[in-house]
Amino acid sequence: MFEKARLKLTVWYLLIIMLISFTFSAVIFNVQMIEVKRFARAQRTRFERQYRPDTLFVSQSFLTDPDLVAETQKHLLSNILIINSIIIIFSGGFGYFLAGKTLRPIKEMIEDQDRFISDSSHELKTPITSLKSAMEVALMDKKLTLVDAKKLIKDNIADVDRLQYLSESLINLSKNKEQNGSSIIENISILNVMESAVRKILPQANSKKIIIKKNLININFHGDKEKIESLITILLENAIKYSSSNKTILIKTAKTNKTLSFSVTDHGQGIRQKDLPFIFDRFYRADPSRSKSKASGFGLGLSIAKMIVEKHHGEIKVKSRFGHGSTFTVTLPQHFS
Ligand code: ADP
Repeated sequence: MFEKARLKLTVWYLLIIMLISFTFSAVIFNVQMIEVKRFARAQRTRFERQYRPDTLFVSQSFLTDPDLVAETQKHLLSNILIINSIIIIFSGGFGYFLAGKTLRPIKEMIEDQDRFISDSSHELKTPITSLKSAMEVALMDKKLTLVDAKKLIKDNIADVDRLQYLSESLINLSKNKEQNGSSIIENISILNVMESAVRKILPQANSKKIIIKKNLININFHGDKEKIESLITILLENAIKYSSSNKTILIKTAKTNKTLSFSVTDHGQGIRQKDLPFIFDRFYRADPSRSKSKASGFGLGLSIAKMIVEKHHGEIKVKSRFGHGSTFTVTLPQHFS
């Protein structure tokens, strides 16, 4: 498809260049021919003034030889044709190159979308299939008791929760992906947003007896409150998810000249060096065996976090020691337009 579109665009480039080139050639050819005829006329007049026609040694036909004019016309035409052929060959190659360059971002976008659709459908298919087969098996079981049925429903609800989480993450991802997606930029206080995100994930932290320590100063900055809150929530959720019980998590804010930063440090399992370059990629999970567990998520959180940071013209960095814990630091400009 890309190759077809590239060829089509090349043809359009060529048509435009040929149109311009042929128009200019026609103009040049006509101007040149007028010049040649003017020259021949001027030469004849000059001879006529110098010699009386009866004593004229040179014949009229020699002075304004029509064959010579026709030959000049032929030469001019063939030169113009040669030049136009060179222009067509050159601009064909160059147009093909330019068409490739013009279409490359669109090609990459389409490939990215295709990957996204196939990854998402794959992730959706797995829980749907397991839900369906569990129900089918239960339906065929003639000895199914009420206790079994209740257990099945409970498992199904867990799968549905997982599907709901996935669909919400996908919506969140596509919302943040939109270049001109709606954003409400306002003056916000990092302290308030941090506190609000902590309140949200507190039940998860409590269930694992994880203590969240705070070292916060207030900084006001311009940003989308809802998105910054979900960014902090993602980092906090991961810190809880990848820490064992009774650990602590530290959240910190800091300010430099024109930027503010906040970090989430955990003492959990950490990330292997080889996985670090990929953890912000969509659907990437550092440890596939761990990703099978229900709490592990889908590898979408950090890619959403990265998109939110980029929308705020900031950056997100991670430092991690496998087996010791990780620190995610986000730096944002205080003002952005
Ligand atoms: P997931 O839903 O799998 O948590 P994320 O995009 O949030 O997806 O994270 C991608 C991967 O990065 C995770 O699967 C995990 O391996 C790793 N990761 C992210 N945060 C942490 C953390 N705080 N500690 C250890 N590993 C982490």
